[in-house]
Amino acid sequence: MFIYQILLVISILFMMLLLFLIALKSKKKQIHYAVMAIAVSLLTWNISVLCYITFSGIPWVLAVSEKIYFIGIIFASLATLFTSLIFVHTRIRFSWKYALLFVVPSVSLAVLFTNPYHNFFYKTFSLIPSEQDFGFYFSVHTAYSYLCIGIGLFYLLHFSVKNFGFFSRQAMLIFFGILISLIADTFSTFHIFDWSAAVENIVFSVTAILFIFAIVKLDFLNVVPIALHKVVNIISDAYVVFSEEYEIVDFNNAFITNWDGASRKAGICEVIKRGCPDFDEEQFIHKVSKSVREQTTVSMEMQCPSSDGARYYQSEITPVIFKSNHVGTIMLIKDITELKKNLEEVIRLNEKLRSLAVKDWLTQAYNRYFFDERLEQEIDRASKLQSCEGEAAKAGNNLGLIMFDIDYFKVYNDLNGHQAGDELLQVLVNIVKETLFPADILCRYGGEEFAVICCRTAVEGIRVTAEKIRKSLEEHEFKYQDTQPDGNLTVSVGVAYYAQPCLKKDDLIQMADQNLYLAKNTGKNKVVFRQYEDLI
Ligand code: GH3
Ligand code: MG
Ligand code: MG
Repeated sequence: MFIYQILLVISILFMMLLLFLIALKSKKKQIHYAVMAIAVSLLTWNISVLCYITFSGIPWVLAVSEKIYFIGIIFASLATLFTSLIFVHTRIRFSWKYALLFVVPSVSLAVLFTNPYHNFFYKTFSLIPSEQDFGFYFSVHTAYSYLCIGIGLFYLLHFSVKNFGFFSRQAMLIFFGILISLIADTFSTFHIFDWSAAVENIVFSVTAILFIFAIVKLDFLNVVPIALHKVVNIISDAYVVFSEEYEIVDFNNAFITNWDGASRKAGICEVIKRGCPDFDEEQFIHKVSKSVREQTTVSMEMQCPSSDGARYYQSEITPVIFKSNHVGTIMLIKDITELKKNLEEVIRLNEKLRSLAVKDWLTQAYNRYFFDERLEQEIDRASKLQSCEGEAAKAGNNLGLIMFDIDYFKVYNDLNGHQAGDELLQVLVNIVKETLFPADILCRYGGEEFAVICCRTAVEGIRVTAEKIRKSLEEHEFKYQDTQPDGNLTVSVGVAYYAQPCLKKDDLIQMADQNLYLAKNTGKNKVVFRQYEDLI
């Protein structure tokens, strides 16, 4: 018996060390109080057994020890359950459902203290299992205690399996600490060995040692774990892990929500194809192989049909390499539909801005700003071609400038209103555009005056183009054209072309403008095409 007493004292010292270590923590969290509750329960339990053995001749000590013994038993299981719950959830919010857990222990306490009147808890108390005689309520209390500890152990095991590294090792250590005590208790409770119940209390020291080890070595109680699978489930991107055989191993909530048929062992390609019929399996396998070969993250875009148009996904494929072996692949799938739509909108607006910057808003012909820039560029190009190419090439590479102005447009406006005038300008531009070659550039030079830059055109071609413009407008039946002075809506056209090297932009415009002026002054509705030499 003496050896029991020494071992019990050692066990009590370990409990006290555990309590001391927790008491040292300055900022106590829920988990600290829960572990303290385990330590205090086991401590009172152990002290009662020590007193029972040591003072076996003093009846009142025995009577008190009996009660304290059961108090320790009643609360140890509940403290274990709370420790596991808090560890796994980081923190719990107390609610009525947790209060319910105290119902059975409270009844147990009541039954215990009224035991002398009914013997429901125990009839004969003894530390030797074969000499114990428990009442029917003891079975209720035992079942409840084992249930609490069982649930607690399940939580810890589940957490340890679901997480890895540091927190998993913490969970494992606590799990085994509790399991060892549970096994020792089971041996006593179910009379498997007829040893003194003190042996069980001595085994509790192992629990205390493992808890102390977890605190000192694994920072248990300092770094409160946040379950990794919870973090993974919170993120909005879908996450899936698949094996080398392309079978799904793990996934988060976002993956289940977005991809039908997500389940462990299902083929990753089949699951993705269900949502994305056009999923390129060959490309996917190629990307996975690449990520494994180069041990890097590879990305891949997917487009899937949906009720509100297509949905776009950007996936990141990363190999899981463990001790230089490829054991699986992680795939993060981000929904980038909104991003894509925004990008398309930005491109559309950019396009619009570009068009607004270079085009005239009323007629959609290029504006004066664009005309000036482009004419400068074309003159530059023409001057280079003139200086380096052969005569034949020069002839076909002429640069022409055609300017035309509507005849009696003021009259048209005065008679039909400015709105009709605006509409006429729009119709006129469309007709001229159809007449021109795609390479020709139609610009609104100002008011009702337009310019056409004819690039890489022979002199004769420029003349023909000018005539085509005049003719097409003369022949078109414009609205209200009958009220015009000549009974027709026509234009006068002035043409210039780049013949001399060193000709400037302003010279070319002036030349075309002077020809236009001449056309106006010599009867309108005509093309004037005088060459540079004729003008100077
Ligand atoms: P001419 O045959 O000599 O060219 O005579 P015209 O009446 O066409 O020439 P003038 O320069 O005297 O008048 C040009 C008119 O063009 C005056 C102006 O009201 C009209 N105009 C210029 N820009 C616009 C426009 O954007 N919309 C409308 N509706 N009219 C315009
Ligand atoms: Mg005019
Ligand atoms: Mg005019």
